[in-house]
Amino acid sequence: MSDPAFQQCIKPTCGATYAIDDVRYACSACGSLLDVCYDWSRCRVPKSPALFNDRRGAQPDTPAGRLDYSGVWRFRELLPFANSTNLVTIGEGRTILQQADRLAIEIGHKPGRCFLQYEGFNPSGSFKDNGMAAAFTMARSLDRGRVGCASTGNTSASLAMFAGNTSTRAGEPIRAVVFVGDDKIALGKLAQALDHGAMTLQIAGDFDACMRLVREATDRLDLYLVNSINPFRLEGQKTIMYRVLEGLGWQVPDWIVVPGGNLGNTSAFGKAFVELRELGLIDRMPRLAVINAAGANTLYELFTERGLRWNGGQVDDRVVLDHYQHMEERGWAARTVATAIEIGRPVNLPKALRSLDALSGVVRQVTDEAILDAKALVGQHGYGCEPASAASVAGLRLLLEEQVIAPTDRVVCILTGHALKDPDATVRYHANGGRDDVAAPHANPPVQVPAEIEAIEEVLRSC
Ligand SMILES: *Cc1c(COP(=O)(O)O)cnc(C)c1O
Ligand SMILES: [Zn+2]
Repeated sequence: MSDPAFQQCIKPTCGATYAIDDVRYACSACGSLLDVCYDWSRCRVPKSPALFNDRRGAQPDTPAGRLDYSGVWRFRELLPFANSTNLVTIGEGRTILQQADRLAIEIGHKPGRCFLQYEGFNPSGSFKDNGMAAAFTMARSLDRGRVGCASTGNTSASLAMFAGNTSTRAGEPIRAVVFVGDDKIALGKLAQALDHGAMTLQIAGDFDACMRLVREATDRLDLYLVNSINPFRLEGQKTIMYRVLEGLGWQVPDWIVVPGGNLGNTSAFGKAFVELRELGLIDRMPRLAVINAAGANTLYELFTERGLRWNGGQVDDRVVLDHYQHMEERGWAARTVATAIEIGRPVNLPKALRSLDALSGVVRQVTDEAILDAKALVGQHGYGCEPASAASVAGLRLLLEEQVIAPTDRVVCILTGHALKDPDATVRYHANGGRDDVAAPHANPPVQVPAEIEAIEEVLRSC
């Protein structure tokens, strides 16, 4: 009997299918992206989410317990592409939904309606671990010994950590190769890739150049590519939405707000909700807001400004090509303090358009100043995140101002990465009193004090 899991071209007019273990990153018939698909009637999906909740208390001291302990694999019936003996976990996805009442008040939202899904709590400090657990499971299933990615930093940190933790079936170490831009990567992320022993190639170029080169490298060298163009990555990232729903007792929120970079999350979240509704585990869809940095706003330009749509799978490629040609003619390159989303040519664009269609989505752009101010607010209220993550909160603030989101709407912002990923950006904001000349509104500069108790007393009197 054939496998109930398979790969399929996302273009409805093509729909070519491929076996699960057929390694390719695009449809060989038409060049479109691929999905991982399931014949659900032949998969054992629970009728209610109670089973997933029950697994939450698992102890990781047995192999079965380790799978239940994983915030990815405790939902394994919803991403059933691999044999259970091949599932790879390093304890990813133990993240929770935080109700952020004081932050809500600060940005004009209603207490009890604003939530943060804090993915910085993952082992490598970003949401990427959700996808990496699934991609490494595929690498294990295929028994590949060399794994690679292009990265703005967090994918390489996650890949390096998983490679350090896992081995081939013969017990050999898995070799990690990461392509990063030579001056783009935040220090915390570079430190992780080096520390976990990844071969780290600093390419003289930006992320888009790294992406192009790593794709060529996979073809020439024996490299298993785990960027989000790999559809198995996105299967793992679906679980972020399952945990959001769990945090809300499986009540669907009104909005999900997510930063948009390579648009892997945007794509995965849409797929997650479409499948959950098909399976009868939810009865309505949330809306989706994708937030670009203004300096890396390709999706905003295409979707919001130029009206590009999924259009039943007939995406108008001319609009995209025209836009990219424009970018090149102007010598435009993505540039933002939010380095994790500093991407000019998002590889998952068509899948993201499909998600925006399924979830009645909107796309907005926010300035670096708005991102850093939102980041400071997130930090001030006890959560903390890296700049790219705060784009979601800056986007929520903007959409509240625009009255697209109502203060009574129940909203979940995804905090994609940990505050310690990019301490430079944080210290620059606070220590220098913020921007070049004006003080940033939420700056908390350190106070220089002589080493005398009287002077300290004097300072503290005004505090
Ligand atoms: C990778 C990353 C993003 C971008 O996510 P996409 O799924 O590529 O859009 C955003 N924030 C952080 C912290 C990241 O590491
Ligand atoms: Zn195709």
